[in-house]
Amino acid sequence: MGLGSFFKRGKKEKKEEAVEECHIDINTDECDACEKCSTACPNNVLMLVDDVMSVRDAQVCKNCRVCVAICPNDCITVN
Ligand code: SF4
Ligand code: SF4
Repeated sequence: MGLGSFFKRGKKEKKEEAVEECHIDINTDECDACEKCSTACPNNVLMLVDDVMSVRDAQVCKNCRVCVAICPNDCITVN
């Protein structure tokens, strides 16, 4: 009696846990450095660096879009 049993091993797809990071774009051409966004951000994501509004730490962004709503020049996009 043969012991030739072959089991086909299905490819197991490993789901990798991705750290979701927000992508924040600031149109610095339109930004007048009013700091409304950085003041309003509840997670202190944005910061003025050398008079240019910058993303301090995108990993702590909660995608609430308060910054997008408050910017008078419509220069922030978060996705
Ligand atoms: S989306 Fe919310 S948490 Fe993210 S930078 Fe804007 S205000 Fe801050
Ligand atoms: S609220 Fe808009 S214009 Fe004001 S600093 Fe932020 S990105 Fe610039």
